[in-house]
Amino acid sequence: TRPYLLGGNWKANGTLATLRALIAEFNAAGPIPANAEVVIGAPFIHIPECLSSLRSDIEIAAQNCSLTGPGAYTGEICASQLKDMGVTWVILGHSERREGFGMAGEDSDLVARKTKIALAEGLKVMFCIGEKKEEREAGTTMDVCASQMKPLADILSKEDWANVSIAYEPVWAIGTGLTATPEMAQDTHASIRQWVSDNVGADVASAVRIQYGGSMNGANAAGLLAMPDIDGGLIGGSSLKMDFFSCINSVP
Ligand code: 13P
Repeated sequence: TRPYLLGGNWKANGTLATLRALIAEFNAAGPIPANAEVVIGAPFIHIPECLSSLRSDIEIAAQNCSLTGPGAYTGEICASQLKDMGVTWVILGHSERREGFGMAGEDSDLVARKTKIALAEGLKVMFCIGEKKEEREAGTTMDVCASQMKPLADILSKEDWANVSIAYEPVWAIGTGLTATPEMAQDTHASIRQWVSDNVGADVASAVRIQYGGSMNGANAAGLLAMPDIDGGLIGGSSLKMDFFSCINSVP
């Protein structure tokens, strides 16, 4: 009974021209299944174009928001500004932002605080977690996921959780073509749901969506989405192509 949640994460890809062409293709695609919600995470600067041009049954997410409210914070975009524009979701704690690409990365405490602020401003949050290759090999996948979720469980109220989706994205599967097998992903999703049950509550655990991310595409989506604890996807490369609609149409 959890509606599927298919997020596209465009990252820092596209130009106005290429994204306009993609939007036109998405707009011409068939209907979105009734049991699926679809969200596109656009670069900040392309959000207005998406809001005005993209089909209205696709919601818009930002890929980050500020830890601050409005004010003297040069270069930041705050949650209340996103909400004001008509953005309804924000992706927080993506592994690329945690890693920092040459800047200071975001730690789990900071991501939890951003999540709390975004929720307070009325945004919904895709909260990203996931282990690196060496962590999986060391058998610490669930320890890593738990440590990423703990500050969130500490800071959120039970009501807050209604507007949170957990995006499980094993770092080794992102952009590599190495998708987790449906069984591997299901195993971790079930452990994540159990952790939420133990640390937040059984009611929240049964309601929260857990999306899989990492080289999901039209060819492997059906197998992943058929798993009982996989409630959607967070899709990078494939969301920049019509293949995104193959993922959407793979919901059971
Ligand atoms: P890819 O689908 O390109 O592996 O990216 C996944 C991702 O990071 C989505 O947030």
